[in-house]
Amino acid sequence: MKWIGNQTLPIYASQITLCLLILLVIIPQTSRGEAQIPDCSRAQSRVARGLLQKDLYPVFKAGGWEFPQSCPLKPSRDMYSHQEERKWCDNINKWYCNYCGKAFTSENTLDAHFANRHSRTIVSGEDAVCLADHCDYLRCDIISGAKTGSYWDKTLCKQTALDRLKQRCETVIKSCLPEGLTGMHKHELRDKLKKALCSSLTCELFWEAPSKESTPHGTAAYAIVTCILIVGLLLYYLVAYTHFYTDSSLLNSEDTGVFNTKESEPHFTRDPYGNEIRNRYQQR
Ligand SMILES: [Zn+2]
Repeated sequence: MKWIGNQTLPIYASQITLCLLILLVIIPQTSRGEAQIPDCSRAQSRVARGLLQKDLYPVFKAGGWEFPQSCPLKPSRDMYSHQEERKWCDNINKWYCNYCGKAFTSENTLDAHFANRHSRTIVSGEDAVCLADHCDYLRCDIISGAKTGSYWDKTLCKQTALDRLKQRCETVIKSCLPEGLTGMHKHELRDKLKKALCSSLTCELFWEAPSKESTPHGTAAYAIVTCILIVGLLLYYLVAYTHFYTDSSLLNSEDTGVFNTKESEPHFTRDPYGNEIRNRYQQR
């Protein structure tokens, strides 16, 4: 029995070691499969996507063209494209996940939910593109306002570095030109896209932020606030004028009887002005 006991110990030890090895191999693979979080900034991708939705996609839509698969800016290659389609925004503080119906107070928290709960819906494979990787020539940080050019940034700007970005930008545009488009139409479209996406890659324009368009809501709010301020100022001057420059005062209506609204009492409890003046002369 003693001999057998001595033999079983190494067997158990090897079995435990084998189990530990299996766990070490299986657990990371499982966790990777369930919550694969790619190293691609959602915030920067969103800025790049917004820029493309404004300057690139409408051009293709208007011309009735399709993006070739070689184009890295093709919407369906955007790794977050499926999740973006499942965002439902009621207002700026109310966002919904259209996979499971949960509500969130901001787009960032919804993005975190997508990353944690719906990571399988991220586009993957060789064709998947992280739009944030195109932020260097799209100037995402400057457009989003995350970065503003300092005096030294502008002074020490190197055009050669920007030329490299411009070359990359133009290469991407070349890969995005629709198949079948030839001649003048192709050149026109290429020039149009270069102007929209690559023309700011010069030392003069690189740090220039786009002017913010005023929204109808912002204009209406501005008009309402202005009206309230004007009415407030007028009321203030009216009260101040009646208080300091007239015998009656809006601040002390009980004495003056100006705004006496009680039905049981007369509207004016004070002597008429004529009697008041007369009384003053009599007192002298
Ligand atoms: Zn969800």
